[in-house]
Amino acid sequence: MTVTTSPLLTVQDLTVRYGTAQALSDVTFSVAPNTALAVLGANGAGKSTLARALSGLVPPVSGSVVLDGDDLTGRPPESIRRAGVLHLPEGRGVFPSLTVMENLRMATTGDRRGRPAAVDRAFTVFPALRDRQRQQAGTLSGGEQQMLSLARALMIDPRLVIADELSLGLAPKMVDVVFESLRRARAAGVAVIMIEQFATRALNFADDCLILQRGRAAWSGPATEAGPELLHRYLGS
Ligand code: ATP
Repeated sequence: MTVTTSPLLTVQDLTVRYGTAQALSDVTFSVAPNTALAVLGANGAGKSTLARALSGLVPPVSGSVVLDGDDLTGRPPESIRRAGVLHLPEGRGVFPSLTVMENLRMATTGDRRGRPAAVDRAFTVFPALRDRQRQQAGTLSGGEQQMLSLARALMIDPRLVIADELSLGLAPKMVDVVFESLRRARAAGVAVIMIEQFATRALNFADDCLILQRGRAAWSGPATEAGPELLHRYLGS
């Protein structure tokens, strides 16, 4: 017997243009709950445009984006965010003169009642932050600040995180922190769309893979099947 779960996110024939230039053409894919999708492609393939379209930063000219039955197509970014789609590194950074605890509390503006539970959840996902809760954020190590900034982002309890080149320009140790943090978020029930320059790392992390080529979905399938030959064909070296 095969068990089929309905997708968390369903993207159908998504098309985006900048003026007359078509950046995405009829892109279709889905993301199951609790899974990670790696989106790969050469420079200019449309990866960031996909992230922007999913989070409402650019309006699609056609196609649809549906999150668990909720049609998000064409909605403004704030409404999409409220529906549970979080585009990172949006809101990256911490307040250096405030403590770790103050930084976390501030991330949950508007929902005072849910605040202690949200802070507790963040400490469960990132135990290292619990130990440093009274420390000024500016005195944390780079990796710990990265962790705090992800913890802040995750405090709004997203259902889907779009991680757009989160490790860009980071030292290898910090890249490890980013991956570990996303692993923890996924273990806590958050689905992830990962756009990454490190294809192999992204594939090791992800369950599924979507390869874009000149704005089109050129290949999709299980991450384990995206072998070196395929990567070479679509991504070059
Ligand atoms: P990279 O890996 O280099 O960041 P990418 O796969 O994220 O590339 P996009 O940034 O989505 O690619 O760009 C897709 C196409 O759309 C490219 O041809 C790019 O030049 C074009 N493009 C992106 N943003 C704009 C814009 N604001 N105006 C016009 N064209 C744009």
